[in-house]
Amino acid sequence: MTNHEVWDKTIELNGVAIQSVVCMEECSELIKAISKRLRGELDIENNLAEEMADVTICLYQLARMYDVDDTDVHAWIDRKTERQRKRNALQDHQSGETTR
Ligand SMILES: [Mg+2]
Repeated sequence: MTNHEVWDKTIELNGVAIQSVVCMEECSELIKAISKRLRGELDIENNLAEEMADVTICLYQLARMYDVDDTDVHAWIDRKTERQRKRNALQDHQSGETTR
């Protein structure tokens, strides 16, 4: 059984509503792991990587459960990245102005 088959089976067994709640919980666990790192806590058990893996699995399951097309996600990624590139360039330009 592939990873994807296991993740699909989990949706089938839990149902969309429960699995959606699990995804929300996993997002909150990732938020907590990031927060701990920001507070300078040691991550001996590799918790950040674990929670990143959980959310990565959830992103796949959310796409399956809500028929989100991978092409659409990638189009959004491209749009958002382009917008961020422009913001970075503007910020870079502005910080150059203040140091002059
Ligand atoms: Mg988790």
